[in-house]
Formats: sequence, structure tokens, C-alpha cells
Amino acid sequence: VRKGKTPEEVVKKYLQKVKSPPEEDCTICMEPLGGPSGYKGPGVGPVSKAESVGRLAQCGHQYHFQCLVAMYNNGNKDGSLQCPTCKTIYGVKTGNQPAGKMEYHVIPHSLPGHPDCKSIRIIYNIPPGIQGPEHPNPGKPFTARGFPRHCYLPDSEKGRKVLRLLLVAWDRRLIFSIGTSSTTGESDTVIWNEVHHKTEFGSNLTGHGFPDPGHLDNVLEELRAQGITEEDALV
Ligand code: NAD
Ligand code: ZN
Ligand code: ZN
Repeated sequence: VRKGKTPEEVVKKYLQKVKSPPEEDCTICMEPLGGPSGYKGPGVGPVSKAESVGRLAQCGHQYHFQCLVAMYNNGNKDGSLQCPTCKTIYGVKTGNQPAGKMEYHVIPHSLPGHPDCKSIRIIYNIPPGIQGPEHPNPGKPFTARGFPRHCYLPDSEKGRKVLRLLLVAWDRRLIFSIGTSSTTGESDTVIWNEVHHKTEFGSNLTGHGFPDPGHLDNVLEELRAQGITEEDALV
């Protein structure tokens, strides 16, 4: 249980007041911003007219206050909020990756497309377990297939930068998630989250191998979408 701010307080922190709502619909509930929130789920208390609509401070998108609170409550309640329209992240986004281990070491071989450097092997290991409150089916077991999973990066300057950011992503529980595998169709299992990894070393039979000239830039972009940037690699 997280102590401190209530969901209402977290959401309010990222909002600016809106005096007169625009004549547009809230894209969370699809109801007019000038009227009440269409969200009627549990945990939504009353709200004064003056506070019924808020503008996200950085990107400017506007929503019903109660819709943002409902969206926050549907997530993992980590104190961060992501604009559902433009994906701007407020605060530090974390995920629901289950407990496990991330290790890495340099191996003295080159990857196809990176002949001038050695390689980094990352080893992820996550055991099966029981889902927590932040997972799709709390209390139900989850499976973990194909672990340990081995992944590869070139041991170049850019490859090492990607590694540093992946370590941040791991700490923020953003590398894996629990859900339905699009490869196997199995539900309640550990799956890759939205950051691509290369799991094939010397060949590319699966499409998850080398060479792939755009790979490191793609990963940096995917990490950015999770709120992880080069500044995070400096600390
Ligand atoms: P998924 O299939 O739901 O896919 C999620 C993301 O991971 C997608 O972006 C996809 O492109 C990417 N992805 C899928 N297969 C990948 C791979 N081999 N290497 C790198 N990225 C991959 O996610 P998932 O179920 O976690 O991924 C399936 C992979 O998990 C399998 O290819 C295998 O590596 C492993 N697995 C192994 C077993 C086993 O019994 N050995 C069983 C199931 C899955
Ligand atoms: Zn709404
Ligand atoms: Zn936005």
C-alpha cells in the first residue's frame, strides 16, 4: 500500500484550472466537457463545477477531472499520469513487471552488422508466481516461459547507452509485463513490454536478430515513450 497522496491529489498536481471548458468532448468518456463526467464507476466522489475539468499542465489536453482520476485508478497508481491523447508522461512512469533478475556481461564475439566491437549479453530471469494487485488477475498464478531469456547488444558507445537505459527500465518494472502472449496465445504469462530486444545472436531466423541497422535508435525511441531518456543514464 502506497502512503501519501490520494488519487485525486496526484491528478490535481499535474493539472491547471480551466475557467470555461471548450465545446469539445472529453476523449476519455466521450461526453461534452461542459457537462458531467460520463464515468460512474466506484471510487469517484463528487466534484465542484469549478474543478470538473482540468488541463494537463505540459501538453494542454483537457479532460473531466473525474475521468482522469478513474484512469489513474485503473493503472498501477505509481504517482505518475500519462496523457491518453499524446502520451506525455507526468511524474515517473513505472510498470508491473514481476520480480526477477537482470544480469549482463561482455562476450568476445561480434554481432552481424557490428564487426568492430564485442557484444553485450543481457540475461533476464523471471520465475512463475502469483499475480499481485497491479496485475490483470490478482491472486491467480502466472507462467513464465522461455526463461532465462538472452538478449544482445553491440558493445559500442550507443549499445552501452541503451544498456544503461534498459537498467533504468528494469528498475522501473517496464521490461516485462503480465498478459496474453501474442506469440503463443497463452494468457496470464510473462510477456515482453513495449521495448524491443534482440534474442538471436548470429542469425536472424525469427526477425529478432541481427543485422538491423535501425535497432538501437528504435529502442531509444521506445524507451523515450516509457519516459526514459539519456538524462536517466547519467545518474
Ligand atoms: P509476445 O509474443 O506477446 O510479444 C510481445 C513483443 O515481444 C512483441 O513486440 C514481439 O515482437 C516481441 N517478441 C516476440 N517474440 C520475441 C523473441 N523471440 N525475441 C524478442 N522479441 C520477441 O511476447 P512473449 O510471449 O514474451 O514473446 C514470445 C517469446 O518468448 C518467444 O519467442 C520465446 O523467446 C519466449 N517463449 C519461450 C517459450 C518456451 O517454452 N521456450 C514459450 C513461450 C515464449
Ligand atoms: Zn470525461
Ligand atoms: Zn496530451
